[in-house]
Amino acid sequence: MFSFLKILVRNLIQGPSTDPFPFGETFTPEGLRGRVRFDASACVGCRMCEHVCAGGAIRFEQSESELRFTLWHNSCTFCGLCQHYCKTKAIVLTEDWHLSHRQEEKYAMVEQGTVPLAPCLGCGISMIPVADELMRVAYRETNQDIDRLRRLCPDCRRKLGIKGVQRCKM
Ligand code: SF4
Ligand code: SF4
Repeated sequence: MFSFLKILVRNLIQGPSTDPFPFGETFTPEGLRGRVRFDASACVGCRMCEHVCAGGAIRFEQSESELRFTLWHNSCTFCGLCQHYCKTKAIVLTEDWHLSHRQEEKYAMVEQGTVPLAPCLGCGISMIPVADELMRVAYRETNQDIDRLRRLCPDCRRKLGIKGVQRCKM
């Protein structure tokens, strides 16, 4: 009984040990995996994020003119695999953990973006131009030839590559 009173008095003097959240401030642990952000301008449409998504939270829909990205935070497990496999950093997990919501709001808890398609400079087929971020990873500097490459579809790039190899052999 005496030891209980001792603990009670000590706790009353010390005050609460836990954060007062949601009635007061709290902290965000470093490296926390929270709300996902999508940057359409850096996306190359490889769809790797959709492929590796453990929660099945990512979907792409392609039309004639665009590739539409949707991520449902409601299904996301915040595993971070999408970010890990996205080489252009088009998809990142932020430290924003303010994601609580009512059940009826679950379809509003989405991250969306649209990647515009453009005609290939070689054959005219609709394609996603290679993002600047990927060009920066692949080439140190850019020039007119490299800029043309990013506007060619994979088939046309391959044909151009074969022509280059044949020229070298001659
Ligand atoms: S977000 Fe990244 S991984 Fe997903 S399709 Fe775009 S470039 Fe590929
Ligand atoms: S963090 Fe994991 S579950 Fe969430 S969208 Fe990315 S891959 Fe899917």
